[in-house]
This record gives sequence, structure tokens and C-alpha cells, in this order.
Amino acid sequence: MIKKIVVLSGKGGTGKTTITGALHHLLGNHVLADCDVDASNLHLLTPHKVLETINYVGGNKAKILSEFCIWCGSCENICRFDAVKFDTEKGYFIDPYACEGCKACTYVCTQNCIAIEKNFSGEYYHSQTMEKNAESLDFFHAHLYPGEETSGGLVAEVVNLSMKYGDEKSVPYLLVDGAPGIGCAATSSIVGAYYILIVTEPTESGFHDMKRLIETIHNFHSPFGIVINKWDINPDKTQEIMDFAKKNNYALMGNIPMDEKVVQSTAKGKSIMEEDSPAAHSIREIFSKIQKELKI
Ligand code: SF4
Ligand code: SF4
Repeated sequence: MIKKIVVLSGKGGTGKTTITGALHHLLGNHVLADCDVDASNLHLLTPHKVLETINYVGGNKAKILSEFCIWCGSCENICRFDAVKFDTEKGYFIDPYACEGCKACTYVCTQNCIAIEKNFSGEYYHSQTMEKNAESLDFFHAHLYPGEETSGGLVAEVVNLSMKYGDEKSVPYLLVDGAPGIGCAATSSIVGAYYILIVTEPTESGFHDMKRLIETIHNFHSPFGIVINKWDINPDKTQEIMDFAKKNNYALMGNIPMDEKVVQSTAKGKSIMEEDSPAAHSIREIFSKIQKELKI
């Protein structure tokens, strides 16, 4: 079965996607997946061709068929989410952003004029990478529409499809750019992980969010290692994180320095590994440690 390697961070903006893109260049045969569906951008760093687009149904929404409505207001009274609205000209209608699809309104409508419809809340894509001098790999990514909240379900769809394709082709690894934080999208990324690489930054919030993420990972019993990105912007905080890791026996996989070339290559839509730079050098060392740890 394909082994899932997940790159995670306790918060956004730590460089998680840049590091995932770099590992993608080093790992060899693998399936690549972007599970940061709320703010996906791995596809911007990864030249690819979309082969298939799949609609994502994230629950249901109610819709009032106004031609049959007698304006009794029963649906408005029963709705706990304040999703039924009234307009003196249009009559009753549903606010799709407030509706949770619970169907309570359908049980009180004597006119049977409330339909429950599928809510298309995003898309996910099966793509093929198209990088110079590299073998083409399967790449799965997604886009959750603005205002939609079912990111955990969409992450599960992306992971399941990635694993299915990987298993069918006997690909050894699935490399995942996980969702940041500790919400349901992050936990959907973590489930079944063979190995997790935590990316943090040397700030108070980075340290705090990393500790919360580690508490979450403990529930899933996956092995993990820690990388401190831009370690030299705050050497004291870096030392504090390293001391914390040592005290708790957590594996420190390495530190990556602040590097202008990371910003430049990201702006050009390129991986940092396409340039020779201090950050690229550190990432190579981190990858060697991961190889030893995972016996790749
Ligand atoms: S389906 Fe539930 S949330 Fe949506 S309008 Fe009806 S009662 Fe309100
Ligand atoms: S319960 Fe049915 S008939 Fe009454 S206002 Fe709502 S949609 Fe209209």
C-alpha cells in the first residue's frame, strides 16, 4: 500500500508548500497531492496539465419553489440557522450561505415546496506534472469555492483518489501538502500518515501552533520530525524550539535559513531546488535525514 508522507504546519505562512515542492523534486517516484484546499497554491509551483475535473458535493442546501409557496412562515420558524429569509416582493427564500441542509424545513412545509439540492462547493483535479527533465507524475489538487466550509470532506476526496491511483500503479509514496492548523482539513490530511514533517517558524505563534499540532498528531500515532524554517530570523526562539524538541525526544530534522532565492523562485513559479542556494542546501540535508529515517 502507498505510504503517505505529509508536510504540515500549525499555521499558514511557514513555508510548508515551498518545502513540499522541494521534496517533490527530491523524492523520485511518488504521487503528489495538495490538501491545503482552502488556499491551494502547490499547483502554482508545479507545472502540470489537468486531465480531469471532478465536482465536489459538500452536503445539501434547501431551495423554496416559490410558485407553490403560500407564505405561511413555518419554515422560517423551524430553521435554527436563520437561513429562511422573507422579502415583501419575492416572499420566502433560502440564504444558501446560512443553510446547513438539515431538512427540518421540509418536514413542516404543508405545500411540499422545499427542495433539497446538492451543494457543489468545489472542484478537484487529476493532473499530470510536466516538469523539465523529470518523469511525469500524478498530481491531485482542489479548489474549495469561497464561503464554503466543508474542506475536511474535500481533503478526504483528494487523499482517497490519490491513494487509489497510487495503489493501482504500485507507486511507493504519496507526498501531501497538508492543510495548516488543527481543524478537520488538517486532521483529514493526517489520517493514515506514514510519516509527518512539521514545518514551523521561530516566532511565538509558530511555536505555540506547532505544540498544538503535535498534540493533535499524538492522537494518530504517526511518526514525525520537525523543521524550523527561516531559523535565523530569531535564533533565540529557534533555540527554544530546539530545546523543547530535545526535552520531549522529538526528532529535529534540520533548520532552513532565510533565503531571498526562495522568494525569487516562488515569484517565478519555480521550486527552490531548481537553484543553488543556502535554503536548497539545507533542504537536501533534511531530505537525506528523512531518507535514513524512512529507509527510502
Ligand atoms: S435545510 Fe435546515 S438549515 Fe436549511 S433552510 Fe431548511 S431548516 Fe434551515
Ligand atoms: S413552509 Fe412552505 S409554504 Fe410555508 S413559507 Fe415555507 S416554503 Fe412557503
